[in-house]
Amino acid sequence: MPTYVRTEKCDGCKGQDRTACMYICPHDLMRLDKDGSETSHAMKAYNQEPEQCWECYSCIKICPQNAIECRSYADVTPLGGMVQPLRGSDAIMWTIKFRNGNMKRFKFPIRTTAEGSIDPYAGLPEPVDAEIGDHSTLFTKSTHSCDMSQFNAT
Ligand code: SF4
Ligand code: SF4
Repeated sequence: MPTYVRTEKCDGCKGQDRTACMYICPHDLMRLDKDGSETSHAMKAYNQEPEQCWECYSCIKICPQNAIECRSYADVTPLGGMVQPLRGSDAIMWTIKFRNGNMKRFKFPIRTTAEGSIDPYAGLPEPVDAEIGDHSTLFTKSTHSCDMSQFNAT
């Protein structure tokens, strides 16, 4: 279920060398066609390997122009169906369009902590080289358990 860029909406993240979709894609699929030689759409992004797309929706959520859509395969999502998120500052609005034209919208709050401000390893011990082959001391087990209190909502 790959993503596609709506070229009429994409502004190439205003000519930055690394666009938001390029930055976020975990599979390094998004590219910016600076001179139009790849897609005939200069300064527009594109998914260079749609069949490799994980459908993680990261690029769709981060795009400031809401220019990316996910086109599901017809055998998974019936033809004409559509799922489109629109990210705001504190919530994501999901729009679900059914094959019969019905629409539903769901709004969910999102994390508002500053990017990079969470330390997922806080309170955990440093790795010990000598323990790497010892499966009784796995990182997430017993004495190495994580202090979840830091993730609790306040
Ligand atoms: S994040 Fe959106 S606007 Fe920016 S280059 Fe990618 S598709 Fe275009
Ligand atoms: S949906 Fe995920 S894997 Fe696919 S292009 Fe977007 S960020 Fe990359």
